[in-house]
Amino acid sequence: MKNRSALIVGISGQDGILLAQHLLGLGYKVVGTSRRLDQGPTARLAAAGMLDRIQLVTLDPCSLASVADLVRATRPQEIYNLAGQSSVASSFQYPCETVESVTRGTLALLEAVRMWAPEARLFNAGSSECFGNTVAPANEQTPLAPRSPYGAAKAASMHLINVYRASYGLFACSGITFNHESPLRPPQFVTSKVARFVAGVVQGDGGQLKVGNLSVRRDWGWAPEYVEAFHLMLQASEPRDLVLATGQSSSLADFIAACFASAGLQMRDRIEVDSSLFRPSEIQVSAGDPTAARETIGWRAKSMMRDVASYLVRTYSADRQRK
Ligand code: NDP
Repeated sequence: MKNRSALIVGISGQDGILLAQHLLGLGYKVVGTSRRLDQGPTARLAAAGMLDRIQLVTLDPCSLASVADLVRATRPQEIYNLAGQSSVASSFQYPCETVESVTRGTLALLEAVRMWAPEARLFNAGSSECFGNTVAPANEQTPLAPRSPYGAAKAASMHLINVYRASYGLFACSGITFNHESPLRPPQFVTSKVARFVAGVVQGDGGQLKVGNLSVRRDWGWAPEYVEAFHLMLQASEPRDLVLATGQSSSLADFIAACFASAGLQMRDRIEVDSSLFRPSEIQVSAGDPTAARETIGWRAKSMMRDVASYLVRTYSADRQRK
């Protein structure tokens, strides 16, 4: 993989950092973008030890002119579209920003690729939120039925990818990713919130944690494994949208119990359900069928929900001990 180049739009987020690490390990030259390099992202990338190994560019992903200039100047072989407001809960508070950042950002990139780098391969971060409630594990043929502004925006971005693939023959595809976690997840995401809380209990912190609906079921995987799939999708002989999931769905109550159990604790009395944290239209069950990913790119999630819970609690506990 020497002498290959990649552009990561949205390098400062969880997946951007993990993907950059993966691609650097494969010998790629990596260019990454952020809207605000002066406000934090640089520190995160420095902490990940890659500041001097990547080229960073300030970019508004929604500005077609800026995106086109960057694609024309860098002519990357692979492009990863990871930018956009990524929280489902925040999308109910900020629907316009969410829809604008996800759909316009994807469209700007597609147009830039069409005009200036039609031979480039483009990965788009789709989302399981496009499926809404899943009756059976969702696969690539499952109809899209989003239940949040975020899910609707991601569905639009996936349709745009399909339109440009069919209309202009671009190598463009979406990873329809189910939840994937790592210690880089921001603290407002429930997995991160719970694991940080349990790490605090391990250190003797008191108090209770407020959470939303305990019965919702999600498919939780380990993010470093998912970014490998993003890369593999661009090495395939044909562009194809793929579901990326573990194939196992668990309730939030089970995830919380797994976090406590991984630290040898019980969750009794430590968790309080707060109905103000319920979403206006909650997805009750989200389950994915990753068979096509296994068959076409040979990818399979190795870490399941209990592994994820344990890795997170262990990492946050170690972080706290170091402080
Ligand atoms: P993060 O929220 O960690 O990172 C998102 C990136 O988008 C950041 O680099 C940020 O860069 C940029 N960004 C945030 N808000 C905006 C905005 N309003 N306009 C433009 N850019 C913005 O997300 P993840 O790394 O976890 O996820 C990567 C992609 O995968 C996202 O598109 C997400 O929606 C999608 N996804 C993630 C899943 C997961 O479980 N992690 C599941 C399904 C889909 P900066 O602020 O530096 O400009």
